Amino acid sequence: MNSDIAAILVQRGEQLFRAEPKPTVFTGVSAADALLSDLAHYPHAFVLACVMDRQIKAERAWLIPYRVSEALGGFSFERLLRLSLDDIKTLLTVPEPLHRFPAEMSRNFDDAIGLIQTAYGGHAARIWSDTPSSAEVVLRFLRFRGVGPKIATMAANILAREFKIPLADYYSIDVSADVHVRRVFWRLGLTTETARPEEAVYTGRALHPAFPGLMDPPTWEVGRTWCRPQEPRCSECYMRPVCRTLNETATPFPGTTLRMQFAVAEP
Ligand code: SF4
Repeated sequence: MNSDIAAILVQRGEQLFRAEPKPTVFTGVSAADALLSDLAHYPHAFVLACVMDRQIKAERAWLIPYRVSEALGGFSFERLLRLSLDDIKTLLTVPEPLHRFPAEMSRNFDDAIGLIQTAYGGHAARIWSDTPSSAEVVLRFLRFRGVGPKIATMAANILAREFKIPLADYYSIDVSADVHVRRVFWRLGLTTETARPEEAVYTGRALHPAFPGLMDPPTWEVGRTWCRPQEPRCSECYMRPVCRTLNETATPFPGTTLRMQFAVAEP
């Protein structure tokens, strides 16, 4: 049964992966999202946003390159190279802190500029432009000060799945265990109701090791469109032939109140 579920998700995932990339919403501020998505001219903006993405809401962290560009009147790498650590501290602190930990993040920002210059000749796109393996991309992000496995994997995921950057393989591109993916995996019968996020990630790896993350967009689509926390629309959902909750539970959705603990946190 799990292989049937995986086959449908992979087939739909391949359709979505081949589709034209859609604009990615990182912050909800269109000019900031445009800067972060302009990998041809400002690949360092994407990298610096990843470096800033710690211990605050992602939307706020990903706004930082744009806020810095506003203060500087541009975001060319040459301009960034001329900044001292004190300049960066001021940019991240005045008139208001752009991050919860501006001093630490200033060091990370400064260090990232240095690494982009020394390791990639000032062209951050060289992190991914030589068709590296997915693990190599993760590794390259891990070398940035303050970046751990979660952010490094997220960066590789976005490059592969959102920007469709060609990679030599996709073994290290995982599903993102957000509330939709965890809920849908549980209802399909792939995980339990109380599965931790890592279980969702490893479920993806077990089902489609060559490219686990290929199943993320269709799973997210199912969760967002039909498999809502309350009153799921099973009759319209393309997973209904293989869904265990629907097919193997006597009363799949008694009432409309689901027990899943994180359903209450759904937007
Ligand atoms: S059939 Fe129903 S419970 Fe199963 S994944 Fe689709 S919407 Fe969710």
